[in-house]
Amino acid sequence: MNNSSGDATHFALVAHDARKDEIVDWVGLQLAHLSRVQIFSTGTTGSRIKQTYPELDVTCLKSGPLGGDQQIGAMICEEKLDALVFFVDPLSPMPHDVDVKALTRLATVYDLPMACSRSTADLIVKGLVDGDDYTPV
Ligand code: PGA
Repeated sequence: MNNSSGDATHFALVAHDARKDEIVDWVGLQLAHLSRVQIFSTGTTGSRIKQTYPELDVTCLKSGPLGGDQQIGAMICEEKLDALVFFVDPLSPMPHDVDVKALTRLATVYDLPMACSRSTADLIVKGLVDGDDYTPV
């Protein structure tokens, strides 16, 4: 893990409304691995995940449009995360589009693994949870 606290692996999980079912499905497929991860989620995404998988360690932040994305941004700056999975809805315009841009920018600045798709999210789990501890080359 790369978070500066040096303890458990910390993932942020976020999904726009059109992809909330998909992230809940994905979490189910990765349940064995994600049960070893401390999860931080924007409000609605986190509630959905918690409701479906009460056994997971999920901390719900504010809802994304109400500042939850910014809370995740702050965690990136403070190096409290090991990865960000953000299932973005690429087909609908939304008022808080800028939040996605801000998170992408911070993930790039801090070289944080970030996935917007299922396959990339799988690769992150494989690299950070289900394999040897990844160290950047
Ligand atoms: P939500 O936020 O999980 O509270 O819906 C996600 C988002 O950024 O739209």
